[in-house]
Amino acid sequence: MSQHYDLIAIGGGSGGLSAAERAAKYGAKAAVVEAGKLGGTCVNLGCVPKKVMWYGANLAHMLHDAPDYGFEVMAHDFRWPELKQHRDQYVGNINSWYHTYLSDSNIDEIPGYAHFVDAHTLEVDGRRYSADHIVIAPGSYPIIPPVEGAELGITSDGFFALEERPRQVAVVGSGYIAVEIAGVLNALGTDVTMFLRKEHLLGKFDAMLRETLMGEMLNQGVSIISSASIQKVERIADGTLTLHCSHDQEYGGFDQLIWAIGRLPNSAGLQLENAGIEIDGEGYICVDEFQNTNVSGVYALGDVTNAPQLTPVAIAAARRLSDRLFGGMADRKLDYSLVPTVVFTHPPIATVGLTESEARDTHGEAVKIYQTRFTPMYHAFTQNQSQMAMKLVCVGAQEKIVGCHIIGMGADEMLQGFAVAMRMGATKKDFDDTIAIHPTAAEELVTMR
Ligand SMILES: Cc1cc2nc3c(=O)[nH]c(=O)nc-3n(C[C@H](O)[C@H](O)[C@H](O)COP(=O)(O)OP(=O)(O)OC[C@H]3O[C@@H](n4cnc5c(N)ncnc54)[C@H](O)[C@@H]3O)c2cc1C
Repeated sequence: MSQHYDLIAIGGGSGGLSAAERAAKYGAKAAVVEAGKLGGTCVNLGCVPKKVMWYGANLAHMLHDAPDYGFEVMAHDFRWPELKQHRDQYVGNINSWYHTYLSDSNIDEIPGYAHFVDAHTLEVDGRRYSADHIVIAPGSYPIIPPVEGAELGITSDGFFALEERPRQVAVVGSGYIAVEIAGVLNALGTDVTMFLRKEHLLGKFDAMLRETLMGEMLNQGVSIISSASIQKVERIADGTLTLHCSHDQEYGGFDQLIWAIGRLPNSAGLQLENAGIEIDGEGYICVDEFQNTNVSGVYALGDVTNAPQLTPVAIAAARRLSDRLFGGMADRKLDYSLVPTVVFTHPPIATVGLTESEARDTHGEAVKIYQTRFTPMYHAFTQNQSQMAMKLVCVGAQEKIVGCHIIGMGADEMLQGFAVAMRMGATKKDFDDTIAIHPTAAEELVTMR
């Protein structure tokens, strides 16, 4: 006999936990199956440990600036193992909290790896569980390319496991995880070389952000090799790694190689075929706007679908799904437009809405751009002259703001409120009519001409 639930979530990460939590709030009998650690990627191998490292890197930058503010800073050695220990402890506390939280919320925790037996039955470690509603939220995994010697490298997962600061690192990739890891390592004293398949960092972001970030990273001493196609990785006699690229180019001396070339959905082991659930060519589970798969009573959300791979997106989709299933809100679904996001580089990037080129493709001549570039006051008299750049993408006679892009100190904490305004349909005039907060960098967003 299988144990029966109203809802079972596969995956105890951002999406699965949120679906079960919201369902239980409505009185549903819910369970979460988790093969690894509760909290999923975000808590254990993503946002949380990453942000801790980013704070550490920020401190390194500020120590560098401190003499310009009159501080005589003693040159202390940075101790990576100590930071890692504190970080692991912090993450471990969040894990423990989740166990208690689930039991306090009357949600059953089923440890183990789930696969489908049929559309309403799962098997976990030889035991069967059935549910009226099954939410598939197993997340994604980092890609290692099919290149000879690729296994000599690590991914973001391995980065968080490093016990010592590496001396010289190759980071392969140009997406947000690649630039974040490269920035942290560089700030903490590692010699970093980035290898990009094309020419740009953050290919899908607004050109102003991409170009400014590239300049900042080069100024900070990151080496960037563009249009690099890695053919082979080799460990040579002295123990270091050499990357063999196309056109007989070779780059050597690395003690770590980090692949950050993207992520793919964790759908392969779920035996979706037993329930007839459709996936696309890359393994993403196909869903409609309500997170329904093609099979009634089975849903998917988060990184396993082709949605923006972000924690708040997985959480929001999950909560809305449970509102719909158990809260009597028949039309509730996530609107995937205007998703704000931050890239934790140095300086950080914050972005929401259409890039300038996306807006021009869609709205042509109706697009008007406001932009500014300046040295924020903090950097006015530091030797490090880090820049701040902002862009508002407006459309139509009303100059409705459809894109807001910021790079610079404090951008990470700046965007959330502007994203609310844009969601409410703010126009340039609304921004202009808002009293500036002085002296801040954010005031430039409401004073642009
Ligand atoms: C390095 C890094 C940095 C990131 N930084 C940010 C950030 O700053 N901000 C942000 O918003 N997002 C960030 N993300 C992305 C974010 O972590 C993910 O988008 C989010 O975790 C997706 O949630 P999810 O529920 O879909 O999957 P996950 O959180 O990955 O949870 C899936 C869970 O399912 C489990 N699982 C898988 N298969 C099975 C199975 N068959 N049975 C049982 N359990 C299973 C896994 O063990 C995992 O715990 C980052 C990701 C990475 C890798």
